[in-house]
Amino acid sequence: MLRSGTVNRRVVLASRPRGLPTPRDFRIDEAAVPTPGEGQVLLRTLYLSLDPYMRQVMDEIPPVYAPSVRLGEPMVGGTVNRVVASKHPGFRPGDLVLGNAGWQDYVLSEGQDLVSLGELAQPSQALGVLGMPAFTAYVGLLDMAQPKPRETVVVAAATGAVGAVVGQLARLKGARVVGIAGGADKCRYAVEELGFDVCLDRRDSRLAERLAAACPGGIDIYFENVGGAVFDAVLPLLNIGARVTVCGLIAHYNEETLPPGPNRLPQLMTAVLQKRIRMQGVVILDHYADRFDAFRRDMGEWVATGRVKLREDRVDGLENAPTAFIGLLEGHNFGKLVVRVSDD
Ligand code: NDP
Repeated sequence: MLRSGTVNRRVVLASRPRGLPTPRDFRIDEAAVPTPGEGQVLLRTLYLSLDPYMRQVMDEIPPVYAPSVRLGEPMVGGTVNRVVASKHPGFRPGDLVLGNAGWQDYVLSEGQDLVSLGELAQPSQALGVLGMPAFTAYVGLLDMAQPKPRETVVVAAATGAVGAVVGQLARLKGARVVGIAGGADKCRYAVEELGFDVCLDRRDSRLAERLAAACPGGIDIYFENVGGAVFDAVLPLLNIGARVTVCGLIAHYNEETLPPGPNRLPQLMTAVLQKRIRMQGVVILDHYADRFDAFRRDMGEWVATGRVKLREDRVDGLENAPTAFIGLLEGHNFGKLVVRVSDD
């Protein structure tokens, strides 16, 4: 059901999840639509982005991407909004903005967290191919790993918001791209629609063997989105001088303790040492001031000319956000996951 217009529906954190969240960890409540005071704008949400980091802010952890969500408070999240009413000199009713309304219909803002979007033909692209996930791919791959022609680049979650863009940017730079994704449909899409050279199913019991066969010259760049068994398959294939951008570890987000098994830290550190591997973490919030303008210019052109695309997985209705989000953590999304909260 889309927004009713008279109340503010909010999806709040009801309990801190143990492992994979369940629908009971969320609760939908209703509050009055707030009224803007001096210097404030009232925003109505059109689209809500669902992203893996939201799992981390459901736990009580030190802030990396955003502070932990307090129990009973709305889940946080990036949004595309219309300004409904404004007592702020910089915004007028009807303006389209990128905001941080979280999982609710309406929010007040003082304006400093808002980015004017002008009029976008597809406003939800501001949450995907023209927004945070694609910006992460741009900085993490082009600035940090710096792919060169004929190098082999491997990326997992290959049809997801970050991974799909990583693979296409690596192809634009002339690299050979091997994707890893969940299932045959996603793998076919990565090759046929996104132009990857090869894509392998992460659930294949012979993944390590198949990855070795797909990378006969080893791996020059690994863009880490997932961790777990995929990283185990990648590590032995990394070349001398390989670059690894550590962007995400979604396979571990629901873990409450360290996984059992032999301690593989010595193996990892020996590989880093002997192969002179350069491993670099990326937290995209660090890069907006310096690199977002360049990203907007470059990606705007690549998207307009059809050289980069990102499939959108769109879910209708705020009340469906919890199920869609839980599905994202299990790989049920196919492309950038967004919720259409209200009609424009
Ligand atoms: P995606 O759109 O790629 O969705 C998540 C995907 O992760 C799923 O579709 C699934 O893909 C894969 N996945 C889920 N569970 C597992 C698992 N147990 N093992 C392996 N793969 C799994 O999300 P995003 O593109 O938004 O994010 C990708 C990664 O990038 C995440 O780890 C995220 O946290 C990180 N990120 C980091 C940022 C930063 O600043 N450091 C910024 C943005 C994202 P499939 O079915 O194909 O395997």
